[in-house]
Amino acid sequence: MKESLTRRTFVKGAGVSAAGAAIAGVLASCSQNTGEEAEEMENLEASHEIAEKPEVEEQEYFCTCSWSCSFCQYRVFVRDGNISHMLPREDFDYRTCLKGRARIQRTYSEARVQYPMKRKTYSVDDPHPENRGNDEWEQITWDEAGDMIAQKWAQVEADFGPLANTYYQGCGSQGSLNGNAGLIMRLFNATGCTAWHYSFDAATNAGLTRGGIQWFDQSEPQDFVNSDYILIMGANPVGAQVQMWKFIAAAQEAGAKLICVDPVFSPTVAKSDKWITVKPGTDPALYLGLIKKFIDDETYVADFVLNHTCAPFLIKKEDGMYLRGGEYQDEPLHVGPPFWVTGLPTEIDPIMVWDEKEGKPACFDECENPAWTCPDDKYITAWDMFKEHIQEWTLDKVMEVTGISEDDFNFLYDVLQPEHKVTHYINFGTGAYENGLHAAYALCALIAMTANFGEPGRSVGGFDAMYGNFFGHALTAPSNGKSFTYITWLDACNIMSSGELNGEPYPIKTMIQTHGGLIGGSVNSDRTKHEFLDKLEQYVVVDPFMTDSARYADIVLPACDTYEYEDVVPLSHEHNVRISEKAIEPLYEAKVDSEIARFLAEKMGLADAVCDVTDDDWWKGTFDDVQAAVDNGITMDTLRENKIMRYVSEFPYIGNKDYKNFITETGRIMFYTEAPAPRTPSTMDVQSIFDREKMPTYFENKIAGENSEYAAEFPLVMISHRNPSRVHMTHFMKDWARDVMPDPILFVHPNDAKKFGVEDGQDILITSTVGQCVMKCVYHTGMREGMTVYNKGYAENETKFGSQGAITTDYCDPYAVNCSFFDNRIKIEPWTEQ
Ligand code: SF4
Repeated sequence: MKESLTRRTFVKGAGVSAAGAAIAGVLASCSQNTGEEAEEMENLEASHEIAEKPEVEEQEYFCTCSWSCSFCQYRVFVRDGNISHMLPREDFDYRTCLKGRARIQRTYSEARVQYPMKRKTYSVDDPHPENRGNDEWEQITWDEAGDMIAQKWAQVEADFGPLANTYYQGCGSQGSLNGNAGLIMRLFNATGCTAWHYSFDAATNAGLTRGGIQWFDQSEPQDFVNSDYILIMGANPVGAQVQMWKFIAAAQEAGAKLICVDPVFSPTVAKSDKWITVKPGTDPALYLGLIKKFIDDETYVADFVLNHTCAPFLIKKEDGMYLRGGEYQDEPLHVGPPFWVTGLPTEIDPIMVWDEKEGKPACFDECENPAWTCPDDKYITAWDMFKEHIQEWTLDKVMEVTGISEDDFNFLYDVLQPEHKVTHYINFGTGAYENGLHAAYALCALIAMTANFGEPGRSVGGFDAMYGNFFGHALTAPSNGKSFTYITWLDACNIMSSGELNGEPYPIKTMIQTHGGLIGGSVNSDRTKHEFLDKLEQYVVVDPFMTDSARYADIVLPACDTYEYEDVVPLSHEHNVRISEKAIEPLYEAKVDSEIARFLAEKMGLADAVCDVTDDDWWKGTFDDVQAAVDNGITMDTLRENKIMRYVSEFPYIGNKDYKNFITETGRIMFYTEAPAPRTPSTMDVQSIFDREKMPTYFENKIAGENSEYAAEFPLVMISHRNPSRVHMTHFMKDWARDVMPDPILFVHPNDAKKFGVEDGQDILITSTVGQCVMKCVYHTGMREGMTVYNKGYAENETKFGSQGAITTDYCDPYAVNCSFFDNRIKIEPWTEQ
């Protein structure tokens, strides 16, 4: 921390003085120097002298924007205990954006929760859930709030068991200690409650993981400059990951070509060298078509495919499982690749390949002559199985399903040739459809054909980086040995309605939600309210702001915002950890999350299990248990000194170097998975589609698909994009960022608008398969007819009728278990207040 009279303040004062002298000089030269004027002049000079006087003391802190776009660290200046302004770090590649700058206004905004509150008609014994969202608020003390929560949780546990109390883990704060993976998890583990997983933005990672690509271990963006092509598939960094654009632009300047595959002419597409448009949600079909062409033309990198993918692995025809050493010849377990979270080696029962020289099966990691094809009729290689699987993806079929032209298809095929170094930039766009897991799974297989890994310029980019257990570490386990039970949020309404989970009684009575935009930011909010929240006996929201969820709660607890506590932000696009310093004292009666966890633990009688971990213990656990931190001298003290520290020495870091760190049990890219598992358990039927999941597959999205049963009644597909002025629901309060784009907008193709009788600039009623919302219609010719895009992130009190959260479906793929934010169909009509 620096404490000083800043140069800026001093120079500003000097500037005023010089300007005053200049004005005085001009006036003096232009006027007769009468006594009156001389007096005026003296007064003027005197007033400027007064302006020179104030000396403002400033403190400077390094804070990190803990939002999920770029986690920028910047300098925050504090005067008289209040934040006055911020500046980017000059020695840092991430320069911050308007949204980050508006955080200051947000911190001091009218939307802050200032003290604990409860709804006026709420009491523990008579909760009046019918008044949620409409009641008046009354201030209560922290003690009163804590007592009400503890009393209710104890009652519920006694009557229905611990799982009837639930915790919704939002993601509005991503600090290590005070975020949702921080000490608060220790508290909820100690209760043994049910924890709802928010289950969004998960399909892409699930597909990559199934294929073997580790999201958190890819090349750093400073490597983009080494690519011949940046291929962006369904992502819009200019709008959603502002800081990444700089690296893409640098690559373009260095000669790389930017290709965007996107159904919408986005701000990123506007800057690209080539735009390829496809029908929404058809990406897996495009990838499968390209793979088929690589195989048919024999242009794939044979050595890589044979030695670094599952291609030669033997599948038993009788049951579809891999032939393994233990089963075939009592082979002992082999040492597998290290598990990326722990860094410890895995043990594997080795999969067998056909040894061409010996004419019999052999362990994959010992055989020098694996065969592409197996002569023994009992087995088939994964390569032959996959080749057969993709045969249907002829060019004609790809063009019909995706809408791509033959020229564009061939252009993409040329771009992907192995001699070209390609950064595949993807993010959550293709993963926001029901078939999103398969988009990522198919992409793994496509990249495998070209061996586009492990060298400068070749990677799958655009993600966050994170190492092992920097985040959500061992100290989340309380000393009473209990743990919560994770269930996907996408099952919550079903469980509440039926009172059952997997045929067993599963009553749910309470929920505490921390930093989560459950109502505004998740899916099907009308169902969430009426089938879940309305049936709770107590709903508590912990948040710095009066979000949609907070407004619907029974009790609201004021949490601190970023500048009010010290924390570590372990996520970034680079391989480093960043400190976020405490710049100001907690505002109003707000408490830090870790303090709230300890406070509630005391109230619930769980102090022994939770409060025995101090902040210092937490930091020790964060860094001392992580080898990369130890190797690079990262401790909380060194981080406090350095503000930002790398946990790898190489810069820029290159992912999958030497074709290592593919995160499957064999350390290879897989395009045949013998026993696919859902990302997380749910009540959804996974068995009936088990075989579909084994290989990358295209299936039409149930709602947004062209042949959807909903297409006749709801003729327009609706997807969303990241509002350039918000990160999710972050700027619903009055601040600079909100002013940039105050109205929720639905972009409509003019021909569709004409068809449905709506006009540019008009308020329109959007009716989806699940709910309604009013937004402003804005013409957009840069997308296909039959589809629409809305800018996301508006709270319920910003729309004239309905809400954005109400129009998105909660239907999803049982294996991805992920909110399908883009799988929507709507109809539109003019809207009037009446
Ligand atoms: S909103 Fe995102 S890009 Fe902007 S300052 Fe924060 S982390 Fe950086």
